[in-house]
Amino acid sequence: MIAFTCDVDWAPEEVIEDTINLFELFDVKCTFFSTHHSLILTKSNRKLFEIGIHPDFNPLLKGNSAKSFEDILDDILDIHPEAQGVRTHTMFQSVILLQKFADKKLLYDANNFLPYQTGLKPIRLWNNLVRIPYNWEDDVHWAYGYGFEDCRMNIDEDELIIFDFHPIHIYLNTENKYRYDEAKKFYKNPNKLLEYRNSEVPGTRDLLINLLKHCKNNEFQTHKLKDIAYQCLQNNF
Ligand SMILES: [Zn+2]
Repeated sequence: MIAFTCDVDWAPEEVIEDTINLFELFDVKCTFFSTHHSLILTKSNRKLFEIGIHPDFNPLLKGNSAKSFEDILDDILDIHPEAQGVRTHTMFQSVILLQKFADKKLLYDANNFLPYQTGLKPIRLWNNLVRIPYNWEDDVHWAYGYGFEDCRMNIDEDELIIFDFHPIHIYLNTENKYRYDEAKKFYKNPNKLLEYRNSEVPGTRDLLINLLKHCKNNEFQTHKLKDIAYQCLQNNF
C-alpha cells in the first residue's frame, strides 16, 4: 500500500495550492496534516484529500507557551473538526498526548518515523488508537545526504510505503538545508520564494512528480491514512 502525506507547517495558501494541484493532476490521494486555517485546504476535494491535524507542542518544551497542551490540541481541532488523524510537528510524543488523542476520539497517530524501513505495519494501541508508522520524509532524505533522483525505497504495492512531504519543499524543489535556510526568511512570500526554487539538480518537487507519475502509470491504488487505520481495526491487528 502506498500513501502520501504532507505536513503543512504554516505554508501560505499559494504554496499549499501548488501541492494540491500536483496531486490533482495525477489523481493521487494525499493526507494533509494541517497547522492552521487554510481555505484552499478546507475547500479541497475530499475524494482525494484527507485533513488531519499537525499541532505544535514545542512552545511547551521551550517554556514560552501561554497555552496548555489541551488548548493547543483543541485550537487545531476547532479548525478541523473532521480530523481523524494526527501527526505532531517535529514528532512530539508522549503517552499523555496519546491518551488525549484517544479521548478526543481521534482514530490514528502517524508520529512514528522509521526511515527507509520495510515491513511497516499499522498497529492498534491499548487505547484503540491506531499507530501508523511512516518511512520516508523529504527533509530527512537530505539530512542523510541522499540525492533526489531517487527515493531509495522500492515502490511495491505489497509493502506499506508512506511518504511525508512538506509543501514548502515541493514549492522550492529543495535539495538541501542550505537552500531552505536561505529561502526561509521569505516563507510567507510565494513570489519571492520562487526566486529560490532549485532548478539545478533533482529536488523534492522533481522526486514527488516522478513518484506521482509512477503511481499513475502503473495504476497503483493510493490510500488516505484513515483508510489504512480502518483496515487495521477491521483486521484486528
Ligand atoms: Zn511539521
